[in-house]
Amino acid sequence: MAPTGQDSVLVIGGGISGLSAAWFLRQRGMTVRVLESQDRVGGVIGTERRGGRLVELGPNSTLQKPGDGEDALGRLVAETGLSGRLVAAAPAASNRFVMRGGRLHALPTSPLDFLRSPLFSWSAKLRLLGEPFVGREASEETIAKFAERRLGREFLDYAIAPFVSGVYAGDPGRLSVRAAVPKVYELERVYGSLIMGAIARGAKSGGGPPGRLISFDAGMATLPETIGAKMVEAVDTDCRVVALGRHEGIWKARWQGASRAGTERAGHVVLAVPADAAADLLEPLSPEAARLLRAVPYAPVVTAAVAYKRRQVGHPLDGFGFLVPRTEDVGLLGGLFSSTLFAGRAPAETVLLTAFLGGATNPRATTGDDETLTRHILGDLARTLDIAGTPLSVRLTRQPRAIPQYTLGHLERVARIEALLAPFGGLHLGASWRGGISVADCIRNGESLAACIA
Ligand SMILES: Cc1cc2nc3c(=O)[nH]c(=O)nc-3n(C[C@H](O)[C@H](O)[C@H](O)COP(=O)(O)OP(=O)(O)OC[C@H]3O[C@@H](n4cnc5c(N)ncnc54)[C@H](O)[C@@H]3O)c2cc1C
Repeated sequence: MAPTGQDSVLVIGGGISGLSAAWFLRQRGMTVRVLESQDRVGGVIGTERRGGRLVELGPNSTLQKPGDGEDALGRLVAETGLSGRLVAAAPAASNRFVMRGGRLHALPTSPLDFLRSPLFSWSAKLRLLGEPFVGREASEETIAKFAERRLGREFLDYAIAPFVSGVYAGDPGRLSVRAAVPKVYELERVYGSLIMGAIARGAKSGGGPPGRLISFDAGMATLPETIGAKMVEAVDTDCRVVALGRHEGIWKARWQGASRAGTERAGHVVLAVPADAAADLLEPLSPEAARLLRAVPYAPVVTAAVAYKRRQVGHPLDGFGFLVPRTEDVGLLGGLFSSTLFAGRAPAETVLLTAFLGGATNPRATTGDDETLTRHILGDLARTLDIAGTPLSVRLTRQPRAIPQYTLGHLERVARIEALLAPFGGLHLGASWRGGISVADCIRNGESLAACIA
């Protein structure tokens, strides 16, 4: 079925990590085969069109960062012919809201806004003046400890923790600042201060925006689906790899589908699957690496795409969405104003919202039946956004292992896993449990892996 030369690569996992690695490998002249266990590519990226609405089941957008050679996403989009189908978020998306005292407040976007904002007390604002003089901490810190030490408790509760919820569905008391937000960690390391560092970085980049939020005209699934279609001869869905081994320098993977099974051989393997799935395949090769992989926790998330008539919603929905600090009496992690973010996501006179529930701080909230979860989510949305009446539609997506958590010790765990697997030449690890969780991060890691293998 497959070539077995040293320059052939088997990619296990057809999420965006595996597909990007496969794409960039093929562009470099390598022979590639992708095996994906589900009956579609994309992994957690999924888009549905129903009743004129475009519903994202996973990511709604990703941040494209041009410049500094960082833009692997831009290269992938151009090479796959998708440049004309890329859509940038509406300008209003720069407004973000955070709840305090049961009300939504816009996150300040300028120093003057910041001084006027009711989101932070005067003592919290004054506390920031001292941030450049706060000393460093030698040992690895959680995001919560780091933020409280540098910025104070209120900033932790009403800015940093909601941001961590929004990105990782994570618990700032467990995530490592160095592993989960390396750019923030670098500001302290290089400049000794987050504020001075942000100013210096802003001056270096000419004060331009750090990037732009993008999606595609037919939603986020456009990207994996296009790669899958353009590499159709190399991508097999409904093929779960159930065993992996190496003999005389050649990797051998046994796979099973609903009604077929087979074996694939290759000189290199890219393991682009979640950490627990990687652990299952690597157990016979290195039980210790498998144990460490199973120690990477994942946060559960329930996503609800909810549509209303425009007139049912009191809030102007003039932004990206809202985040809810854990100190508030609302169970949602937050919500996106999806039909504001990108045009054409809902029919005229209707709106589409995406609500998130659960995460590492509230995993039990995801365990109820559909009816209970729906009631909970609709109640919270109604209170937060001043909504009257019942929705036009609700689409729930449950992801019990949605997002890997880069907790304390994560970088050491990853380094140890790599060291344990290094003796098995030609084995490469590439998925969201290492090197960043965003879609753009996964693509950048896929490109680096491809360059390294080729
Ligand atoms: C709800 C949610 C919202 C998000 N929002 C955003 C956002 O707004 N912006 C952003 O940039 N990022 C966001 N992310 C993060 C981002 O979408 C993911 O980190 C990224 O898509 C992960 O891609 P991946 O390929 O590494 O993993 P996955 O998508 O998990 O892909 C792994 C693939 O491996 C397959 N597989 C597993 N085991 C096997 C096996 N034994 N054999 C063959 N195949 C196997 C799986 O079926 C899967 O398709 C979000 C994630 C979630 C869950």
